[in-house]
Amino acid sequence: MNGSKDKKLGSVLEEVRNILKDYCAENGEDYKRIAILLVSQILNIDKTQAILEKNLTIEEEDYQKIISAAKKYTMDFPLQYCTNKAYFMGLEFYVDENVLIPRFDTETLIEVAIELFNRKENLNFLDIGTGSGCIAIALCKFLDCKVIAVDISENALMVAKKNAKLNGVFDKIHFVKSNLFENIPPSLKFDAIFSNPPYISEDEISMLDKKVLKEPKQALLSKENGLYYFQEIAKNARQYLKKGGYIIFEVGYRQSQHVKKILQDLGYVDIKSKNDLNNIERCVYA
Ligand code: GLN
Repeated sequence: MNGSKDKKLGSVLEEVRNILKDYCAENGEDYKRIAILLVSQILNIDKTQAILEKNLTIEEEDYQKIISAAKKYTMDFPLQYCTNKAYFMGLEFYVDENVLIPRFDTETLIEVAIELFNRKENLNFLDIGTGSGCIAIALCKFLDCKVIAVDISENALMVAKKNAKLNGVFDKIHFVKSNLFENIPPSLKFDAIFSNPPYISEDEISMLDKKVLKEPKQALLSKENGLYYFQEIAKNARQYLKKGGYIIFEVGYRQSQHVKKILQDLGYVDIKSKNDLNNIERCVYA
C-alpha cells in the first residue's frame, strides 16, 4: 500500500514545486519560495521548519489542502486566498474571496489610532466597510475600545465574525449589515470613525494586477474618480462623532489632497495625514 498517509514533507514540496513551476516562470515568481509559503501556512509551521524538516509526515487532509492550494495559485489567485490566511498588525486572519486581503498600508490607520488614543479608556469606534474585520479587530487588540463594524456584504460580515473569534475579541465588536451609515442609529456617538473604503476609479481598473482582480470589486471600485465613498462617509460622519472625535481614512496613491479638500469643505478641522512605509500619504484624518 503506497498509503498517502505516509507522505513526507520533502516529497509534498517537490510535488507542489512541479505544480507551480511553469506558472511562476511565466509570471517572474520564485516557485520554490511560493511552495514554502503555501506549505508552511497550511501546516501552521514556520518557513524554516518547512525548509528543513523533509521527513515530517503529512496527513492526507493537509496533503489535499496543499495540492488544491497550489493548483488554485496557478489560476491567478493571490497566495492569501489559496492558504486562507493573511497577516495584519502581527495578527492572523482568515480570508477568502468575499473580502479584501488586509494590506500593510492599512496598518498606518492603526498606528494613527494608537497615537491618538493610547491612554484613553472605554473608547467607542465605528469601522465602515469592515471586510475581513482587520481594522476593527486590531483596534480591539491594541486599545481599550468597543467597535461597531459594518459592511454591506453579508458574506464579508461572516468572515469578519470568524476573525473576531479567532483573535479573541468577538465580545468587543458588534457587527451590523449596513450600507454605510444606513442602519446605524444617529443617537450613537463615536470617538472615531474608521474607513478604508473602495477607492479605485473605473479608469484604474485596467492597471490592476490580475491577482488583485480576484478580490471583490465591491471592495475596490468607487465612482467619482475613486472619491465617492470619502465624500459620502465624511458628509454623514459628523453627526456620529463625539465632540473632538476623529474621522480616519485610508486613501489611495495621489488621493490625499483630494480627500483633505473634501474634509475641509465639510468643515472638518485639524486635518492631518500619515505616510505608509513606502512614504505615500496613506492615512488622512481630521
Ligand atoms: N476594512 C477592510 C480592510 O481594510 C476592508 C476594506 C475594503 O473592503 N475596502 O482591509
